[in-house]
Amino acid sequence: MVRSPPMLAGSLLACACLIACGNPVESAKTTAPAAPTAAVEAEPSAPEKGVEPEKVVAELNADGTAPDAAREGALVDLVVLISVDGLRPDVIFPHARMIERMRQKGTHAANARTVAKATTLPSHASMVSGVEPLKHGLSFNSYKPEGAHIQYPTIFSAAQDAGLTTGVFVGKRKLQHLLDPSSETHFEVGGAFCHRVTKLALPYLAAAESGVVFMHFSDPDGAGHEHGWMSKGYVDAVRRSDRCVADVVKALRKRGDMERTMVLLTADHGGHDHRHGSRLKADKHIPWILWGGPVQPKRIRRPVYTTDTAATILHALGLKKPSDITGKAILDGLGGPEGG
Ligand SMILES: [Zn+2]
Repeated sequence: MVRSPPMLAGSLLACACLIACGNPVESAKTTAPAAPTAAVEAEPSAPEKGVEPEKVVAELNADGTAPDAAREGALVDLVVLISVDGLRPDVIFPHARMIERMRQKGTHAANARTVAKATTLPSHASMVSGVEPLKHGLSFNSYKPEGAHIQYPTIFSAAQDAGLTTGVFVGKRKLQHLLDPSSETHFEVGGAFCHRVTKLALPYLAAAESGVVFMHFSDPDGAGHEHGWMSKGYVDAVRRSDRCVADVVKALRKRGDMERTMVLLTADHGGHDHRHGSRLKADKHIPWILWGGPVQPKRIRRPVYTTDTAATILHALGLKKPSDITGKAILDGLGGPEGG
């Protein structure tokens, strides 16, 4: 049974439509778990002759989904997924102090890898769906104004199906393709600088109840392409991103429910020279850090894959995994067996 988090400013949660940066929300549609308003009668199981079958009444949310309490075994109520675009694990120490602290205090996979095609959209789609590009369908790496969207359930669709809210704040518009057009996710594009993304995300985060918040900081990727990975310009961008991560952590602490909140910090790919996308270790290895809530300090040496991100988040929130998902929940630091 999951503790109900305190009601916080609900007005922000009413703003739950798919919106574009700079465009005000035109219609407000709430995705907050609604109070049970509909009751349905369950099919009676073979009643005895002459005996009036006992009516079994199951209460559902207004949209027909099971209420929040159905998340059996949930470890947390809120998951914040932070993807720092192009962040190589070997730049974190000594340049990203906040991320390094999370790596030390949390569960850290020292050998985490992205998908074979180490580019932004395919990799992020695998991160949030738990399957390879062939299955989720986003094998291209650009924004398609004519529309395109992921072809597999995601952490966002699973959370919404369970009556939870979802917010996505990104640096690049092409990440809109991670959402189904019918998604009620609060979506905003902040642009190339992470402080603009956090400016949009932090008020949402302060008011969010149960669910998933995804933040994408693209500074290191932009600097890597421009100045080269591991160059001074790249390191500066990593420092900027680290400050944004620190701002998110500060905002989470302010909420006062850290024990029911988990952060997963990772990246879509690394990079070398001025590019990425090859099979080189510099491109394929990514940071993978679990921190907060029930997470114990742990170092994982076996390979962890970006597809494991979705599976781990679904597990932590007590949500069902699709039966053919590729990723595995990484339970080492969550009180579970290794490789569960
Ligand atoms: Zn990228």
